[in-house]
Amino acid sequence: MSDERRYHPKTLAVRAGSEATGYREHSEALFLTSSFTFDTAAQGARIFAKEEAGYLYARFTNPTVTMFEDRYAALEGAEAAMGVASGMSAIFTTLLALLDQGDRVVCAREVFGSTYLLVEQILPRWGIRPTFVPLGDLDAWRDALKTPTKLVLVETPSNPTLEVVDLSALAEIVHAAGALMVVDNAFCTPALQRPLAHGADLTVTSATKFIDGQGRVLGGVIAGSEALVRGPILSLCRTTGPTLSAFNAWVLLKSLETLPVRMAAHCDHAEAVAAALALRGDLEAVTYPGLPSYRHRDIVQKQMSRAGALVTMDVGSRARAMAVLDRLALFSRTANLGDTRSIVTHPASTTHSRMTPEARLAAGVSEGLVRLAIGLEDPRDLVADLAQALDG
Ligand SMILES: *Cc1c(COP(=O)(O)O)cnc(C)c1O
Repeated sequence: MSDERRYHPKTLAVRAGSEATGYREHSEALFLTSSFTFDTAAQGARIFAKEEAGYLYARFTNPTVTMFEDRYAALEGAEAAMGVASGMSAIFTTLLALLDQGDRVVCAREVFGSTYLLVEQILPRWGIRPTFVPLGDLDAWRDALKTPTKLVLVETPSNPTLEVVDLSALAEIVHAAGALMVVDNAFCTPALQRPLAHGADLTVTSATKFIDGQGRVLGGVIAGSEALVRGPILSLCRTTGPTLSAFNAWVLLKSLETLPVRMAAHCDHAEAVAAALALRGDLEAVTYPGLPSYRHRDIVQKQMSRAGALVTMDVGSRARAMAVLDRLALFSRTANLGDTRSIVTHPASTTHSRMTPEARLAAGVSEGLVRLAIGLEDPRDLVADLAQALDG
C-alpha cells in the first residue's frame, strides 16, 4: 500500500504491509520455507553483500514475517519493526542489542514479573547494573538519571498494578540524560497508545496478548527508528536467532486486521465490569484507568485513546482471592491475558510468585490483588459471574 501516512489506523490494520505474489492471492500468503534460492551463484553473493535486495534465510528474513512487521510498524507509527519469538525475546533482544558490559539500566519497579527478573538477575551477569524506580514518580526518575544511564525501560499501564507514567514528560527527562527510552506497549497495543509519538525511542510488545487476541500463538515485536531496528537489533537477531516463526507471523498478521475493533470492544466491556465492581462496598480497591476515581486520569486522557481491558480488584486477602477465583464460572483461570475469553489471575501466587514478598509488595502486588483481563463475552454475563463469585 503506497502513501500509508494518509490512512487512519483501522485502514492500516487491514491494508498496510500486504504484498501479493505472482498468483495474485487476496489473503496474505504463508511462506513455510527455511531458505530462498538464488538464480546464480553471483546473485547469491550480491544478495549477501546487500548489493541486491532478496530473501536469504528464514532466521532473519521471511516475506510473511516482513508483512507482519510492516503492518505493525504502520500501526505503531514506526519507521521499522522487527518480529521476534515472544514478548520476552523482544525485551531481551532489545536490551542485549543496545547495552554494553557495565552499562546502567533504569527500570520501572512495576513491570511484568519476567521483565523484573531479567533486569534484576540476568543482566548483572554482564555487569549491567539495574536501578528500579517507582513508575509514576518523575522526581525519582530525575534523581536516578543523574548517574550516567544507557537505557530506561517502562511499562504503562503496568502489569498488574495499572500504574501509568506521563510518557512525554518522562521522555524529556530520559533524553536530557542522554539515555534511550524503551516502552513495553503490551497492555495497550498501538490501537490504544502510540508511545513513539510521545517521545519513546522503541516499543517492545508481546504479540501473544492482544495482537493475537485469541490465545493461540507466542510472538513479540520491537518497533522504532530504522537506525535502531534495522541496525543493532536486526544485527543481533540475525546472529542469535530469536526468530518469529512464519506461521505465527501469519496468524498475527491476520489478527492485526481486527485489532482496532477488538480493542474497542475489550474497552467497552472492561468499562462495564469496572463500573459494576466500583459500586460494591466489599473491595479494598478497584483499579481501572477509565474509572473517574483513577488517580491519573489526566495522563490517561493525554496518551491513551481508551483505558484498556485490564481491571484489578483487591479482595482483601490471599484466601478470599483464591476462593473468588475458584467460584468464577465464566472466567478462565490462567496466567495469560488479551484473549477473547475473559481471564482471572492471582498475580502474587503465579506471574509474580518468583519475586520476594518484599519486592512484590513494593511493586504493588498485594496478596488480595486479582487481575481481570476482560474478553469479548457479553459484559452482563461477566458482571453476573463476578457478583456470584464475590458474594459466594
Ligand atoms: C506477557 C507480557 C510480556 C511477555 O510476553 P511473552 O509473549 O509472554 O513472552 C511482557 N510484558 C508484558 C507487559 C506482558 O504482559
